Amino acid sequence: MLRISRDKVCYELSPHLEPVAYVDPGERVVLETHDSRTGRLQRPEDVLTSVPEPKNGNPMVNPATGPLYIRGAEPGDTLTVDILDIKLGSQGYLLAKQGVGLLGDTVRETTAWIIPVSEGQARFSDRISLPVRPMIGVIGTAPAGTPVPTMHAGDTGGNMDNARITTGTRVFLPVQVPGALLALGDVHGMMGDGELNGTALEMPAEVLIEVGLIKGQRTALPYLETADLMITTGYGDDFLAAARRAVREMAERLIAAHNLTWEEAGMLLSAAGDLRICQSYGGQEIIVRLEFPKLPRTGE
Ligand code: CA
Ligand code: CA
Repeated sequence: MLRISRDKVCYELSPHLEPVAYVDPGERVVLETHDSRTGRLQRPEDVLTSVPEPKNGNPMVNPATGPLYIRGAEPGDTLTVDILDIKLGSQGYLLAKQGVGLLGDTVRETTAWIIPVSEGQARFSDRISLPVRPMIGVIGTAPAGTPVPTMHAGDTGGNMDNARITTGTRVFLPVQVPGALLALGDVHGMMGDGELNGTALEMPAEVLIEVGLIKGQRTALPYLETADLMITTGYGDDFLAAARRAVREMAERLIAAHNLTWEEAGMLLSAAGDLRICQSYGGQEIIVRLEFPKLPRTGE
């Protein structure tokens, strides 16, 4: 099986990057991923020295492994990525940074907390352990236009910080350039919805995926399916802008799948759609997701 080592990182989703490997639809790939500081933060005292100089305005943090060129992928197709397994490393870190997050005004000193992870538990202290909930923070394809730094999100994905991007989920991504140019990284041992303090439990990992291609089917924004849920995503400068995109996207899917009117779709979403915040801490886009139970399709 193809394995992509974690030294093959990129810091933007860009049509200009050289692919690190070529992959066929149906193929399985293991991607080794770095933590959000590219492995430079191993001890609390590394907190201030582990951020490199920005290059061309890109902060060079939050790397993604890739990009992978998917053979046969052309603009207007949809790429599917099945997340089959996420194997976490043995430790991660959390950060408290002045002015960052909803408690940023309380932070007197930028602080890193190193968290050992073993046997499925994140060990915060002798008394505080919590079960891990591995997820992928950054996943996306290259946009046809302006590159998207992996600190941000765009129409083709990126730093979505969507806790539903985990083992068992199928991620649908727009293809805007030949080969799609898929990259993923920023794995979290766990992250609460909203990522309230600005970082999750940031960890290296190994992610097993299977890629697929849906020819001639356009996807506007990243979309997810789990065993039970369909999940649309939205991003924007504020909560309402992000939420409107996710809601509209879901309404269009329900209308197409179940032959509903807009009025019926709206009422159904009001009854059973759960709007959740992925990332909220400010200074970046607001990212949301809308979850709706999977229903049998009309005629099935
Ligand atoms: Ca992130
Ligand atoms: Ca992160």
